[in-house]
Amino acid sequence: MSFSSLGLSDPLLKAVAAQEYTKPYPIQREAIPAILRGKDILGIAKTGSGKTASFVLPILELFHRTKPDPKKPLAVLVLVPTRELAVQVAEVFQTMGSYLPTPVKTVAVFGGVSINPQMIAVHGAEIVVATPGRLLDLLNSNALRLSAVEVLVLDEADKMLELGFAEEMNALFARLPKKRQTILFSATLGDAIQDINQNLLRTPVKIEI
Ligand code: AMP
Repeated sequence: MSFSSLGLSDPLLKAVAAQEYTKPYPIQREAIPAILRGKDILGIAKTGSGKTASFVLPILELFHRTKPDPKKPLAVLVLVPTRELAVQVAEVFQTMGSYLPTPVKTVAVFGGVSINPQMIAVHGAEIVVATPGRLLDLLNSNALRLSAVEVLVLDEADKMLELGFAEEMNALFARLPKKRQTILFSATLGDAIQDINQNLLRTPVKIEI
């Protein structure tokens, strides 16, 4: 099993090779083709499983396959629990997207720093990686809108809940378009994650690593 058999095109295969990933990890073998088919994903996976590349690669592949529309600036929203993870995930989008003929504008936004530079940075972003509280602040300042979000990723959803972001998450979910693809990753599958699964995901492919 190789990355090329998963449906990724050359610029992404080059990026994967440059990272010296020789074979896809199990989560990548399952998630990449399913995401490319437009399926929702319920992934129970921990850090270290390769979960980040399992959504970053197919999302970039979808960008590569579709023409950007300047009227729809934001297409992908990734919610993460912490600043560190926001920076890390945005970096993986950048690294994996570095061979694409059209760059995909990716921005990380998180609390604990001044909001003003982020208000400028999110302008025209196609992929926003955000912590929930700061994203709500940016929405309330009209720095961005969620009406064009086509793909929602919840990364480390259980940790977001543990950190007390449930209310912010619900406020964000209410502002997202109903028609979208949703990808949920969590290390554990407790009741609260099951609730999110039932309320937000449509017949997801379940992947347990
Ligand atoms: P993650 O679970 O996404 O935090 O990834 C854990 C680590 O595995 C990161 O350092 C990745 O760069 C690395 N990694 C992810 N997928 C692969 C792969 N297919 N082959 C080798 N390393 C990988």
